[in-house]
Amino acid sequence: MRVAVFSAKKYERELLNAANVAWGHALTYFDSLLEPETASLASGFPAVCVFVNDRTDAQTIGTLASGGTRLIATRSTGFNHIDLKAAAAYGIEVVRVVDYSSYSVAEFAVGLLLTLNRKIHRAYNRTRDGNFELDGLMGFDLHGRCVGLLGTGKIGRVFAGIMRGFGCDVLGYDKVLHPEFVAAGGRYESLDRIYQRADFVSLHCPLTPETHHIINTRTLALMKPGVLLVNTSRGGLIDTEAAIDALKDGRLGGLAIDVYEQEADLFFQDLSSEIITDDVIQRLVSFPNVIVTGHQAFFTREAVGTIVATTLESIADFEAHRPLRNRDVLSQ
Ligand code: NAD
Repeated sequence: MRVAVFSAKKYERELLNAANVAWGHALTYFDSLLEPETASLASGFPAVCVFVNDRTDAQTIGTLASGGTRLIATRSTGFNHIDLKAAAAYGIEVVRVVDYSSYSVAEFAVGLLLTLNRKIHRAYNRTRDGNFELDGLMGFDLHGRCVGLLGTGKIGRVFAGIMRGFGCDVLGYDKVLHPEFVAAGGRYESLDRIYQRADFVSLHCPLTPETHHIINTRTLALMKPGVLLVNTSRGGLIDTEAAIDALKDGRLGGLAIDVYEQEADLFFQDLSSEIITDDVIQRLVSFPNVIVTGHQAFFTREAVGTIVATTLESIADFEAHRPLRNRDVLSQ
């Protein structure tokens, strides 16, 4: 099938091309983001392949539909960047990668938590400068502490299991109660109870209208003073300005984010020689107790390999009119 591929970096193109030998799709790469202004590039392509920062909104989808697109395949688990209602209205199918490697993201979230708590990022910089002082580097034992999870799906549950291994008390909140979370040693609690009890909070729910800014001035005020917050899910879950205020007055003891509300203008690009005009991200990176990574939690050999394989397979299934296994929640 002819596929217009947007936002694929060099490493991804190499993997896509190698895996595509088995499928024989005609892949055409576009360097630009997919957005209303660029959507016409996909004219004549029955399938369009996107990533998390492509703006697949109603206007873009309208242009894709008039150009003959019938399938949007996102190389991600999250699908908040796609207007599903508009896609349905235009009769365009949407597939994602339902499960690629929950370990990749959960392990990264644990890494962020350890780094934040034990200040490994600061120690790394200090020792490179010949400073072997410990002043200011004290953390706390994770053992015996309470971790709160928002979202106990595939990634949340792997994270829960790892934290149980550390000897933590694991509390979770979810719209759906998963017996596997309880089997992994977690306990469901109300959101308010989690905010009151958790020494650190990790976000693993999708970005939806309901979860947008779920972490805000009110919820930050309910949390334990000095709480550590980790977000590997989606930037829009946190009201970033509220988090900055909480960092400034010390209520938030540390923040580690792999995702950021305005990441579409920044992430996946080398801007090291540019003037960054986003004052919010600049303020965030100025805090010693904030760690920002550029949406890399998924970035393991296993995860990227599965993303590529699943995406190409879904496109082939669509072309052959086979059932689309990777559209499950999207069709609900
Ligand atoms: P999943 O669908 O298995 O789990 C999500 C869980 O969130 C589900 O149990 C769902 O019931 C729950 N949920 C939905 N709405 C909720 C709400 N209002 N309050 C509380 N819980 C709610 O998904 P997953 O594979 O565990 O992925 C979770 C998220 O991680 C994705 O949506 C995506 O945004 C993010 N993600 C990030 C990266 C990265 O590289 N940083 C990679 C993959 C996924």
